Amino acid sequence: MGLTGIQIFKLLPKTNCGECKFPTCLAFAMALASSKAELYSCPYVSPEARAELSDASAPPIRPVTIGTGEYEVKIGGETVLFRHEKTFFNKPGLAVLISDEMNESEIEKRFEKLGHLQYERVGVTMRAELAALKYTGSREKFLSLVKTACEKPYSLILMASDTAIMKDALEIAKSKKPLIYAATDDNCEAFGNLAKEYGLPLTVKGKGIDGTMQLVDRLTTMGIKDLVLDTSTRKTKDAFQEQVAIRRAALLNKNKSLGFPTITFPAEMADDLMKETLIASLFVAKYTGIIVLSDLTGESIFPLLLQRLNIYTDPQRPMTTKEGVYPINNPDESSPVLVTSNFSLTYFIVSGEIENSRVPSWLCVMDTEGLSVMTAWAAGKFVGDLVGAFIKKCNVAEKVNHKKLIIPGYAAAILGDLEEELPGWEIIIGPREAAHLPAMLKMWKQ
Ligand code: SF4
Repeated sequence: MGLTGIQIFKLLPKTNCGECKFPTCLAFAMALASSKAELYSCPYVSPEARAELSDASAPPIRPVTIGTGEYEVKIGGETVLFRHEKTFFNKPGLAVLISDEMNESEIEKRFEKLGHLQYERVGVTMRAELAALKYTGSREKFLSLVKTACEKPYSLILMASDTAIMKDALEIAKSKKPLIYAATDDNCEAFGNLAKEYGLPLTVKGKGIDGTMQLVDRLTTMGIKDLVLDTSTRKTKDAFQEQVAIRRAALLNKNKSLGFPTITFPAEMADDLMKETLIASLFVAKYTGIIVLSDLTGESIFPLLLQRLNIYTDPQRPMTTKEGVYPINNPDESSPVLVTSNFSLTYFIVSGEIENSRVPSWLCVMDTEGLSVMTAWAAGKFVGDLVGAFIKKCNVAEKVNHKKLIIPGYAAAILGDLEEELPGWEIIIGPREAAHLPAMLKMWKQ
């Protein structure tokens, strides 16, 4: 952030119209200066002022995109040191290393693992996104590996130090927008020219933080903007400290040479996959953009994916499910009707238990602004009159030939008000724990 709040304020229209959701232009300027607002929120900034302010409103860590399509990975773009200050925006990409030394069946296994080790959680598909293809000495095998990888949907990192081989690989893979790895002291200009020619992001591999900064300065002078930093450190403690130092320098000291996402290699820091996974978990928390692993197994990748999901959700916005009536197990007019809140975790636990019961059911999910049942009840968002109004509004009565509604056991206190709001309905208090739903639903069936 190059400008102060007052400097930004001088460039704003000063009409205090409030369209940016801030009461005054000054409040908006202050928020912009501390990265708590986005410039596009004000539609009245003149083109000249916008050009001047764009630098001020750019995130201190440049966002970089790798790959295309469903496996595209966006990293960087972060504005805070700690998640609770605002949120982390772009989760780190997870990559598996595949080298030209491996035989064909081992290579195919790695790609299969990338495809198979995917998990659904709170409506999100969790998976590793990248294959890091490493050249180890055989040009022919490496280029064949790149060709094979191009037939897969995954995003790619191309790892080679030889400029001619990298150029051949880029000719094959350029349409997949791979990350080039890596510009070093020896090949900096040549790799910089390749990144410019193909318009691709480039990794800078320097010696420590100082060496990396020197390379970054050489490359940015050439006009290259999309960089990813590798400090070459492979000792866990030192690499971890460097990740923190880079983030702090970029955010607190506005160090532009370090204002880029990073890449780390747990694959080269341990000789045991579980230890490697443990190291990777450090870098998920602080603050790596891409994490390269030597292999994937269900027990290694699942905890990492879950940790990443948890850290990279917005702490100020609970995950929600859309309000509505959800049919589960092909319900019909005699199927039970249940109601719950729209906190994603609640929805997925309740719907999962209904699915497990195999009893066809209608699940009414009410908008409680992402609060769980108990919290929503305590906050007055899951109370008798509101639940009653929602049941009328969602028209579930038209789908069934009975008027029986199962409410969560934790919301038993709303029974009286709900009966008043829904005359003619029989309100049944369900179990407190979703795990007991299958037994109750099976009794309904009988
Ligand atoms: Fe000022 Fe623009 Fe916000 Fe209106 S939208 S109050 S002009 S900053």
